Amino acid sequence: MSKRKKTCPNCDEMELTRVARHGFLQERVYPKFGMFPWECAQCRQIFLLKSRGQSYRKAGPRPGPEK
Ligand SMILES: [Zn+2]
Repeated sequence: MSKRKKTCPNCDEMELTRVARHGFLQERVYPKFGMFPWECAQCRQIFLLKSRGQSYRKAGPRPGPEK
């Protein structure tokens, strides 16, 4: 399994920063889909990725024993 680099969908910048969730969608809806808001260091656009930033295993319906 190859490690995929996260890039900005707008400008392909690879330096992305996880940002705090704001608003109903980001706080209540996106977490259900495993989506996390990220901000691009280049164009400052905020978008959602299915990544939390660290190596994160999809737990599925049951929570895994480790975080
Ligand atoms: Zn960008």
